Amino acid sequence: MTRPTPGKIVCVGRNYAAHARELGNELPSQPMLFFKPPSAVIASGESIAIPPEAGRVDFEGEIALVIGRRARKVAARDAHDFIAGITCANDVSARELQKSDGQWGRAKGYDTFCPMGETVTSGFDWDNLEIVARLNGEVRQHGHVRDLIFPIPRLIEFISGVMTLEPGDVILTGTPEGVGPLAPGDRIEIEIPGVVAINNSVVGAES
Ligand code: ZN
Repeated sequence: MTRPTPGKIVCVGRNYAAHARELGNELPSQPMLFFKPPSAVIASGESIAIPPEAGRVDFEGEIALVIGRRARKVAARDAHDFIAGITCANDVSARELQKSDGQWGRAKGYDTFCPMGETVTSGFDWDNLEIVARLNGEVRQHGHVRDLIFPIPRLIEFISGVMTLEPGDVILTGTPEGVGPLAPGDRIEIEIPGVVAINNSVVGAES
């Protein structure tokens, strides 16, 4: 297994109804896309660094898709031909900056704000993927792929209709309800049970 080295990380916001509601947002009528920079990626075992100016910084456990073939205007029924595998990721988000900036580039883009696991190419059931987040050993999020507002094939169709996806690109499919703040000293684990897991400690960033 190797960790993906994405040229781009495309993220889907508000893709679980209960999470959209917990942040007081309407349900989207189309997938809502944003990006994280590849420079934000860290491996399991590395530390998430919280900048002093960031305010509240939340964890968001997500199922991630790793693209295997160049994908442009792919139909949903063909989507799986373009996915090399899956992994888990933590869409670390500076919640107050996300609101105050309007654009999400800073809130989602700090160094270390995208812990990501290794790519798993087989041995899982697409219809029964779960995503679990544990903060200091306690389960805080537990989502199931059936609860995605826009399912995985539809996401590939929609995103590849907008931009060409290249091998190694990663799609973060959205986070279920239960997000919460991180503080220095915390340990946050994201897991697709039976498939892949990442574990990261939290520190304050040096200025
Ligand atoms: Zn997210």
